[in-house]
Amino acid sequence: MKAFDVVVIGAGPAGYVAAIRCAQLGLRTACVERWRDPGGKPVLGGTCLNVGCIPSKALLDSSHHYHNLRHLLPAHGISVKDASIDVAAMQARKDKVVRTLTRGIAGLFRKNRIQWFQGEGRLCPDRQVEVAAPGDGESETLSARHIIVATGSAPIEIPVARTDGERIVDNEGALAFTEVPRRLGIIGAGVIGLELGSVWSRLGAEVTLLEALDDFLVAADREIADAALASFSAQGLDIRLGARVTGSRVGADGVEVTCTEGGEDRTFHFDRLVVAVGRRAVSDGLRPEAVGLRLDSAGRIEVDALCRTSVDGIYAIGDAVAGPMLAHKASEEGVAVAEHIAGQAAHIDHSLVPFVVYTHPEVAWVGKTQGELEAQGTAFRVGTFPYMALGRARGAGDTEGMVKLLGDAASDRLLGVHIFGAQASELIAEAVTAMAFHASTEDLARIIHAHPTLSESLHEAALAVDGRAIHM
Ligand code: FAD
Ligand code: NAD
Repeated sequence: MKAFDVVVIGAGPAGYVAAIRCAQLGLRTACVERWRDPGGKPVLGGTCLNVGCIPSKALLDSSHHYHNLRHLLPAHGISVKDASIDVAAMQARKDKVVRTLTRGIAGLFRKNRIQWFQGEGRLCPDRQVEVAAPGDGESETLSARHIIVATGSAPIEIPVARTDGERIVDNEGALAFTEVPRRLGIIGAGVIGLELGSVWSRLGAEVTLLEALDDFLVAADREIADAALASFSAQGLDIRLGARVTGSRVGADGVEVTCTEGGEDRTFHFDRLVVAVGRRAVSDGLRPEAVGLRLDSAGRIEVDALCRTSVDGIYAIGDAVAGPMLAHKASEEGVAVAEHIAGQAAHIDHSLVPFVVYTHPEVAWVGKTQGELEAQGTAFRVGTFPYMALGRARGAGDTEGMVKLLGDAASDRLLGVHIFGAQASELIAEAVTAMAFHASTEDLARIIHAHPTLSESLHEAALAVDGRAIHM
């Protein structure tokens, strides 16, 4: 039996980062991963690199260029006759980006001397992991002083719209369309629905999002969510709130979807339907019961603040445990667990996880929303600043959006930052840094921001908390 200090099960952003950090800390490390690419080759990277963050952003960028070419660049005096989209080339580029990055992780594993076992990892008593090779391949058993479970998540399926991989698909299918659907339906106006809906809408699809809830982007600040809803609707996304899907039927030429909306029955006809109603933690194949790992009612592995499970020596991280299902949260948990195992002080501040929706304009936030502060009875002050008053945004022709800062009324400490606008995904990093260092809104107001940049919106919003924004 091969013996390791640490065996990691799963090589998504939680598992591969944990494995690399363990190896950096001198721990003899193995990682078990069962994922195969569409050609059947074993690959690292999990959901994020193969069918999540990376391919979706590659397609978002491609479709954004195409959209700009047709809608933004003429105002800059740039026009291209007969602009067209080659979906096969766009998909080939996306696949290459994915391949480069997943191979990069294999390279990092080699460099850090991490042993990659290609198969399914199953928990066994006495801190052992059985690696089941696919098909009739022989299984082998590894022993470990510590086990890190990083088995991730999978799309939630709903009985009213079962995926068939053809007409009704999940994120994986929606990232791999070989042509632009004329009419695209999406169940769920959450992050995946909005991002992938944007991709195909920019390329010419008529996109309808059927969202069960009456509110849009429930986790976001209301003011920001309202601005985003108005903007996305104006872009042509038909976002129908309070739409409860009751059934679907696949026919020769598409999918018929029935739903109730505002008390009325409705029927929609789509060429393709994407189901994007959230994700569930994965533990199938893992056999958590064999070692007595406790799962919560949502099937997530129960852990404490340091990602320790109910079983001594076994940790769990990433989408497999509670918390936002985000790659950066998963990776930070991986780093913290590795450092804890190596005897270092480990710390994860879950209150400072940034959220980003990569639409255009982007939505990004960190910390509390105004609604949360009101609900908890915290007195606060608000500062807002619109993109249209930024020289840089004007120059770029990207003037839609705003920044909103929330500061504690008594201490002035920054409690939340909410952005709807171009480059919000990059701008939010300043807010996270400021909040990590317990900055006040006055601190941000007194820091010099380069001109002309979009980051001036944060500076001006901080000044606005105190009623002294310069350009408004
Ligand atoms: P995963 O990435 O799911 O990896 C788990 C790995 O474990 C998989 O490779 C799986 O094969 C393996 N595994 C499971 N069970 C076993 C077993 N028994 N034996 C061996 N291997 C096993 N997050 C962001 O932060 N930013 C984004 O822009 C973003 N975009 C996304 C877009 C889409 C379309 C989707 C679907 C998700 C997106 N996410 C994004 C979420 C992000 O992908 C996840 O939060 C992240 O991948 C979680 O990492 P993980 O390592 O916990 O799980
Ligand atoms: P989500 O939770 O973001 O959105 C799902 C939406 O579907 C919600 O608005 C929910 O109310 C709605 N819904 C649920 N059941 C429904 C039903 N039966 N009918 C109609 N609507 C229904 O989930 P997602 O978009 O599937 O994405 C899954 C997770 O992946 C996200 O929570 C996020 O953690 C991660 N992700 C992150 C990013 C990013 O960081 N940019 C991008 C994509 C995915």
